[in-house]
Amino acid sequence: NAMIDIASVSKTYNTSQRGSHLALDDVNLTINEGEFVSILGPSGCGKSTLLYMVGGFVKVSAGSITVKGAPVTGPGPDRGPVFQEFALFPWKTVLENVMYGPLEQGMPKKEAAAWARQLLTMVHLAKYESFYPKELSGGMKQRVALARTLAYKPNILLMDEPFGALDAYTRTRLQNELLDIWERDRKTVMFITHSVEEAVFLSDRVYVMTPSPGHIRKVYEIDLPRP
Ligand code: ADP
Ligand code: ADP
Repeated sequence: NAMIDIASVSKTYNTSQRGSHLALDDVNLTINEGEFVSILGPSGCGKSTLLYMVGGFVKVSAGSITVKGAPVTGPGPDRGPVFQEFALFPWKTVLENVMYGPLEQGMPKKEAAAWARQLLTMVHLAKYESFYPKELSGGMKQRVALARTLAYKPNILLMDEPFGALDAYTRTRLQNELLDIWERDRKTVMFITHSVEEAVFLSDRVYVMTPSPGHIRKVYEIDLPRP
């Protein structure tokens, strides 16, 4: 049962300076419910473009993307983005940042605070709930960003090199936290990375995008023992 279905998708960017540029050409990819799929590929091959289109942030030029059978028309709470440069609200505390989504969705304040605290405990930041983002390390900010996205209870996590800027130690810890979450809640994950090692460690399947205009080549079908 396909969660994300990308069928014959192409993307052409039109810019005034450089005219039209074909970024993706006839891409096909299906991600099943509960699968963890990574996409590798050189810079500029269109990985982010593809992820942003699934997220509804960028429009497809041709072809179709469906999520649970419904065409993607824009962003939605079923698809939670976790991007490397995904900024936290600097004027809100860690707790307030994580509570933001549930409050927007109409959850009562007490319940939202309890839910946010539960998520912060999960990413080992319970003690930092009253801190502001600028007081945190890069790894801690990335964990807050992950908690903030999880707070919306998305079925799908769309992750664009979320751990790319982190040191090896912090990255390993976050990878393990992500796998814990994925295993417990059976999220569907579409994960972009530059690291073959990271992709192989995390994924059920790994795809490699060839350089522009990004065609996808399936490279690995990894059958890892999962608890
Ligand atoms: P990747 O994530 O693999 O590095 P991107 O999806 O960011 O690749 O970019 C794919 C191609 O599309 C690149 O050639 C890039 O220059 C171009 N591109 C990406 N975003 C835009 C945009 N907003 N406007 C014009 N061109 C873009
Ligand atoms: P991470 O591994 O999450 O990136 P660091 O390795 O930078 O975190 O920091 C290690 C520990 O130092 C953190 O878990 C935290 O306990 C503490 N720490 C880091 N930055 C701060 C800060 N600005 N204020 C208080 N404690 C901090």
